[in-house]
Amino acid sequence: MHSARLLQDEAQAQSQALAAPPYYAPQGEECRLFEHAHASRLPLLIKGPTGCGKTRLVEHMAARLGRKLITVSCHDDLSAADLVGRHLIQGGDTRWLDGPLTRAVREGAICYLDEVVEARKDTTVVLHPLADDRRVLPIERTGELLQAAPGFMLVISYNPGYQNLLKGLKPSTRQRFVALGLDYPAPAVEQAIVATESGCSPAVAAQLVRLAQALRRLTEQDLEETASTRLLVMAARLHVAGLPLLASCRAAIIDALTDEAETGAALHEVLRAVI
Ligand code: ADP
Repeated sequence: MHSARLLQDEAQAQSQALAAPPYYAPQGEECRLFEHAHASRLPLLIKGPTGCGKTRLVEHMAARLGRKLITVSCHDDLSAADLVGRHLIQGGDTRWLDGPLTRAVREGAICYLDEVVEARKDTTVVLHPLADDRRVLPIERTGELLQAAPGFMLVISYNPGYQNLLKGLKPSTRQRFVALGLDYPAPAVEQAIVATESGCSPAVAAQLVRLAQALRRLTEQDLEETASTRLLVMAARLHVAGLPLLASCRAAIIDALTDEAETGAALHEVLRAVI
């Protein structure tokens, strides 16, 4: 059962080969901050709402810095062993298999733990000594104390929306990280992103961003998630593929945001007013 679980987690931990940097439109000085954190061997905490560009920033910077990126999407069943590794029994033999964090530490890769507050609490125990001056990963099961290779960087992200208020990150964990706050990009930047990522016209991108702003004003208080840059890109892609803009927005944005008829109707009204 453990090996099946591990294989699944391995599948989630996507390793990316070195490649040309994927497109990233900066919101401010975040690329510079990332570069300096990497050069200074400091771990980075990126906070911001879902779909605002956190993952894309990490992918972009890993490629720019020429570092391999190992991404782990955290979930509530993810344990320290899933990150560090475990012994596998294969054909009567027992062998050790590194987890994604251990691989990153050995190889000097960037390890990105997406939505880290979802993970089980025991994961913070292994992150602490890696995230301070020691830069070591204690592997309890093998007795190894692994010193991080020079290029290694730990990046974690979380969405400080209200569903995470209770979970939060412990202050002792937070204080080990340089923090970077992202939000939805300013309208001009978001328009450029939507147009570039979908191939839609500047006029359509502008309409979608206007819609997002109206929806964000309305949903800020009531909904866990609101119209993210990701949802705008999805709507634009549907439209570029041939679906009318209104139907694209309904499918990719409105129906993605709520299941409630009343809220849906209110959001739909905003949609009709803008598109
Ligand atoms: P997050 O990790 O914050 O949930 P992502 O980085 O996955 O969000 O962003 C979602 C999508 O939105 C990306 O796949 C990309 O198409 C688009 N996107 C958001 N912000 C940017 C940006 N600054 N530059 C380029 N694309 C962006």
